[in-house]
Amino acid sequence: MDVLRVVFFGPPGAGKGTQAKLLEQKFGACQVSTGDILRKAARAETPLGKQTSGYLARGDLVPDDVMVKLVAERLKEPDCKAGFILDGFPRTIAQADDLERILKKGGLPLEHALGLKAPNDVLIKRLSGRRTCRNCGAMYHAVFNPPAKDGVCDRCGGELYQREDDREEQIAARLRVYEQQTAPLKDYYRKRRLLREIDGVGTVEEVRKRVFRAVGDGAK
Ligand code: AMP
Repeated sequence: MDVLRVVFFGPPGAGKGTQAKLLEQKFGACQVSTGDILRKAARAETPLGKQTSGYLARGDLVPDDVMVKLVAERLKEPDCKAGFILDGFPRTIAQADDLERILKKGGLPLEHALGLKAPNDVLIKRLSGRRTCRNCGAMYHAVFNPPAKDGVCDRCGGELYQREDDREEQIAARLRVYEQQTAPLKDYYRKRRLLREIDGVGTVEEVRKRVFRAVGDGAK
């Protein structure tokens, strides 16, 4: 199987998690969703969870040093050795610099930085209707992609819930944080010739085709 080393960035609701999972299925590289890791840690009330849950609830970014340490450790695990799909990391220039350093040391440079984009009205509609499975992390949308049975995950029967940070106030805060702290990654990766900007508007399948094309797998 081909391997892949990519980062996904884009505003909340652009479809990073959904598309990262599809790439993972196709390429077998490990998908590392920093948001999922932090939410799991918060639920399990681990030291990491206790340290970071306040940031998530407010829609703020967790400090760079915490995130970089977490991702550096995760990338050392065997399933990430050849390939990875980072979903939600880096989110700041400082994180991107550290990632570059870590990957250089490991001799496995980034192949693509996938920047998913969509206008704010689309993002807000997606986020406010999003429902996530507490058990397996599968995502649904109350209108665009509802589960067969209300509140129950089709895949594993787990309970569907609305993320605390998918409520209206937090959505606005997250969009602001994205513009201020994460959007500058576009120029950062453009300068390194790694940026692949992808239109995130459309169905999951339409966006998937664009994503696969961007990583050089358009035929499949
Ligand atoms: P996500 O699931 O990617 O939308 O992330 C949810 C939340 O986790 C964010 O709003 C941040 O509070 C935190 N988070 C996830 N990834 C990062 C990161 N790379 N840097 C800082 N905070 C992060």
